[in-house]
Amino acid sequence: MKIALITGITGQDGVYLAGFLLDRGYEVHGLVRRSSWPNLSRLRELLGEKAGEVRLHYGDVTDGMSLLKIIGEIKPCEIYNLAAQSFVQASFEMPCYTGNVNAMGVVNLLEAVKSVGREMKVYQASTSEMFGNNGCEVQDESSPMRPCSPYAAAKLYAYHMTRFYREAYGMFVCNGILFNHESPLRGEEFVTRKITKAVAEIVAGKEDTLFIGSLDSSRDWGHAADYVRGMWAMMQHDTPDDYVLATGSSVTVREFVERAFRYVGIVLQWKGSGENEVGKDATSGRVYVRVDKRFYRPAELNRLRGDASKARRVLGWEPTYDLDALVEEMVKTDLRRLGIC
Ligand code: NAP
Repeated sequence: MKIALITGITGQDGVYLAGFLLDRGYEVHGLVRRSSWPNLSRLRELLGEKAGEVRLHYGDVTDGMSLLKIIGEIKPCEIYNLAAQSFVQASFEMPCYTGNVNAMGVVNLLEAVKSVGREMKVYQASTSEMFGNNGCEVQDESSPMRPCSPYAAAKLYAYHMTRFYREAYGMFVCNGILFNHESPLRGEEFVTRKITKAVAEIVAGKEDTLFIGSLDSSRDWGHAADYVRGMWAMMQHDTPDDYVLATGSSVTVREFVERAFRYVGIVLQWKGSGENEVGKDATSGRVYVRVDKRFYRPAELNRLRGDASKARRVLGWEPTYDLDALVEEMVKTDLRRLGIC
């Protein structure tokens, strides 16, 4: 039986990946941070009773000794390093902490593997945010990287260290350069989930307005279920390498908002501009969306669109969800959580 260790197992991708690996007969271990209130709700929501099959270990990627101990004990053949301070906006407020987790945490893990068992394979969760505003219409593995947040700068350091450990020490380590991927289990502070949750709450009469930052940022949004399959495929290939995973189409936040409202029968019309822009119901004139500058970032990443040709060609990876199916699943699940439909 193959043994896998997932750091960040309580997060969106960790939960989808745990389910994917359990279905393939893996023994799945997860690293969890000790907190005053265990954060296992997403694992239980997606996996139900199967969540009990995941073996959890206390640890933290900023604590190299805990990594050494866990890796030494369970001797995984595959390690998926998904742990991160993953919220870009928060990284502007906590740049040092973000660097400790997203950059140094990765070196802690690579060092632990180098000491305990170089034959173990490591997946590093790199990100399209590393490209920043690089001036390219489409980004692939060879595009220049100009991060525009502390989150992305820390991830870029980790990306290079991962590549360096592969080249210098011959370790099987891969960077998955993943474009945004969402799901009903996306954290509530991330823009897509914030939108679908607000739409459901408006329908339920619990909220009346969605407050949002930049409407014109454009992202390449896929579904987490497709992307964890891509992570696994990278680890099954004969040789370690770096791969972009993306859908190839980029859509603005504005369009995501319109699609989510349209799903519950509200067609939005935009009035005003900048901080004064609002989205109104085209029929009743009622305001449902307001731009709020509190959610603007100090530096905005304007547009991302990925080219996953390499992953398609080498790994045979293809996304199966389109944006409408993703929006529908997210809004439907948020409605169901509120007891509607
Ligand atoms: P997420 O939902 O925010 O999950 C992050 C996970 O990391 C959580 O399990 C969290 O644990 C854990 N964590 C945070 N700090 C840690 C630490 N110091 N030690 C150990 N665990 C720690 O993120 P996600 O969306 O699943 O993303 C997974 C990874 O992919 C992240 O590295 C993210 O940066 C990267 N990524 C995500 C996307 C995307 O669109 N989702 C795109 C590209 C790259 P708690 O539950 O205790 O907070």
